[in-house]
Amino acid sequence: MASKRFAKADRRRCVSCGACENECPKDAVKVWRGCYAVVNEARCVGCGKCEKVCPAGCIEMRLREDGENAK
Ligand code: SF4
Ligand code: SF4
Repeated sequence: MASKRFAKADRRRCVSCGACENECPKDAVKVWRGCYAVVNEARCVGCGKCEKVCPAGCIEMRLREDGENAK
């Protein structure tokens, strides 16, 4: 069953540090071609670890029921 929350990364603010990728226990966020972080929402379990370690504050947690990205 899918988690209620998932991470969303703002690619415009991402500084490509890779901290989120290193921290994620589910291999759900990757720095795409060294450019910016992309979250695989299907793999994300909503733990929030990536949000905590991001130095640029560009990851936020969202509710799946909430919006346009709910799957
Ligand atoms: S919320 Fe957790 S599972 Fe989802 S991308 Fe971030 S670290 Fe990975
Ligand atoms: S931790 Fe933040 S700044 Fe670093 S790669 Fe991930 S989203 Fe980008």
